[in-house]
Amino acid sequence: MTGFITRDGDYVLIELNIYFTVDSECSRCLKISTNDKETLIKEKIYLKNENDYDIDFKEETIDVHPIISEKIIDNISLINLCKTDCNGLCVICGLEQNTTVCKHEEKNLKESPFSSLSELDL
Ligand SMILES: [Zn+2]
Ligand SMILES: [Zn+2]
Repeated sequence: MTGFITRDGDYVLIELNIYFTVDSECSRCLKISTNDKETLIKEKIYLKNENDYDIDFKEETIDVHPIISEKIIDNISLINLCKTDCNGLCVICGLEQNTTVCKHEEKNLKESPFSSLSELDL
């Protein structure tokens, strides 16, 4: 990370540029992909108030880790795809369907608007 922390009057301005790497699992095919990310932090913290990060400005050094970890968590999306048209896994054999397509038909059945009918026991 790079940046600076400035004290001005009754507040502290924290401006940091953080670079980090996220290993995330594709929500469909479970493949792990590594992404480099960059985010800018700009936080103005008033000394007289309690701050959200529990940073104690009376100490000789201040710990900015709580701010950084919160920003990183904000940057990680819960739904993550290795590519927008990822075909995911076959529900029968579990084979990843991007490089090979297996012959199981259930996976196509799922796409059909009538697929739920096939589960009915008539
Ligand atoms: Zn995928
Ligand atoms: Zn299959």
